[in-house]
Amino acid sequence: MTAPNSPPARVATEARKLPKGDRLLEVADRAGWVARVGHAAVMERIRAVLERHRQAVLEGAPCPAAEAVEAEVLAALEVDAGGTLRAVVNATGVVIHTNLGRAPLSGETIDAMRQAAAGYLTLEYDLATGERGDRAAHAEAPLKRLTGAEAAVVVNNNAAAVMLALAALSGSRPSGESPPDGPPEVIVSRGQLVEIGGGFRIPDVLRRSGAALVEVGTTNRTYRRDFEEAIGPRTRLLLSVHRSNFRLEGFVHEPTLTDLVEVGRERDLWVVEDLGSGALLDTAAFGLGAEPTVPERIRAGADLVCFSGDKLLGGPQAGILVGKREAIARVRRHPLMRALRVDKVTLAGLAATLAHYEKGEATARIPIWRAIAAAPVELEARARRWREALGELGRACEVREGRSAVGGGSLPEVTLASAVLALPGDPDALAARLRAGQPPVVGRIEQDRVVLDPRTVLPGEDEGLVKAVRGALAG
Ligand SMILES: *Cc1c(COP(=O)(O)O)cnc(C)c1O
Repeated sequence: MTAPNSPPARVATEARKLPKGDRLLEVADRAGWVARVGHAAVMERIRAVLERHRQAVLEGAPCPAAEAVEAEVLAALEVDAGGTLRAVVNATGVVIHTNLGRAPLSGETIDAMRQAAAGYLTLEYDLATGERGDRAAHAEAPLKRLTGAEAAVVVNNNAAAVMLALAALSGSRPSGESPPDGPPEVIVSRGQLVEIGGGFRIPDVLRRSGAALVEVGTTNRTYRRDFEEAIGPRTRLLLSVHRSNFRLEGFVHEPTLTDLVEVGRERDLWVVEDLGSGALLDTAAFGLGAEPTVPERIRAGADLVCFSGDKLLGGPQAGILVGKREAIARVRRHPLMRALRVDKVTLAGLAATLAHYEKGEATARIPIWRAIAAAPVELEARARRWREALGELGRACEVREGRSAVGGGSLPEVTLASAVLALPGDPDALAARLRAGQPPVVGRIEQDRVVLDPRTVLPGEDEGLVKAVRGALAG
C-alpha cells in the first residue's frame, strides 16, 4: 500500500484533476468541431492533449486549469483543420523549390485541370468511332511538334521515366536481337553517376531496372573510346545523365551526345539521355547560361530523352519521354507502363502548359518563366512597396540587392540579380514566426537577417505577405 501523501499518490491525485475526455468532447461539440471534422478526429486530438498533460504531471508539472486544457483542444483542432498540406508564400527566391511543390501552374493549366477533374472526358475514348482511344496520345502531338521527336509518352515523374526507359530498352538491341545469358549491361560515365536528391541515385535506379551498370572513365574525364572499349556482348544501352545539381569544372572531358549516338549506331545500341529539367526555351536569353534544351538533344539523335514536367517546363508533376518511334513503342508496351501512367488531371494540365509554348507565350503565361524573367528594377520596386505598406514597422527594414536561384536541381551555379526586403531582429526567431503566420511565409536567412525575395512571391500575394510580416515583426 502506498501512503496517501507519498509522491506517487500526490501525482495520481493531480492527474485525476485533469478534465475528463467526455467533458472536452462536449466543449468541442458545442464549438461545432464534431460537425466540422467528425467525432473520431475530435476524440483523437482530445486524447493526445490529455495524454501529454498526464505525462507532464507524472513528471512533476502542476495540473493545468480545466479552461486552459479546453482552450488548448480548441486551438489544436483549428490547426488540425488546416490540414498538413498548406498554402505558403514562397519568399525564398528559389523558383523551382522542390520542398514547396516545384512549379506553380498557369491559370489556363489550372482551368484545364479543374475541368478534367470535375467530369467525364475522352481519356481513352474515340468520339468518332465510339471505340477505345489511346490515353498516351493526348500530350503526344504537341510534344512532337515542340521537341522534333518522332513520338512521346508521359508518366508520373522523371524518376519513373528513366526507370521505364532503362527497363524497356535494355532487354534487346535496336535491331531486336536479345542479349545472351546474364543481365543486360548499361554503360555510364563515372562523372555522371549522380544523386539527384530525394534518394534518386542513378546506380540504384539502374539496378532496379534489371540492368547491370558498367562504369567507364574517371570522375573528371571520360572519352568516347572508354565507352567503345567497354562494349561487350551483353551491352544494350549507352546512358547520358545531365549533371543537374552540380558543375564539374577544370580538367574535365565528356564525350558529346553526338559521339554516343555515333557509337550506338555503329554497335547496334540504344542511346538514352536523362536530361532532368528539360528546358524547351533557350535559357541563355534569361542570363542563365546555356542549359541543354530538349529539341537540341533530339536533334543530336538520342533514341530517348527523359525530363520532368514540373521543373523548367513549368507544368504539373510528370515524367516525359520523347524520342524514336520504336523506342517509345517499347516503353508503351512495357508492363511497368501501366503502373507509372498519369491520370486525366495531369494530362489535361500538361497539354494546357504545352499550349503556352506552342502559342509563343510561355514567358508571359507560365509562372516559373515569369519569375525567371522578372527584371531587377521591377523586383526592387515591389520590395519598396512592401516596406512602405509596413508603415512604422517598415522603417527598420531595408531593401537590398540579392540573388535568386532557379532551383529544382537546375542551373546550380547560376543566380539571378534580385532585390530583397531584409527584416530586423533575431533571424531564427523571426523566420519561425513567419512560418507560423497566416499565410505562412518562407523566407531565407542571409547575413544574419531574414530576407524576402519578391521574385517567387506570386502576383496577388503581396497583401497577405505584408499582413503576415506585420504580425511577425510585431509579435
Ligand atoms: C530532377 C531529376 C530527376 C528526377 O526527376 P523527378 O521529376 O523529380 O522524378 C532525374 N534525373 C535528373 C537528371 C534530374 O535532374
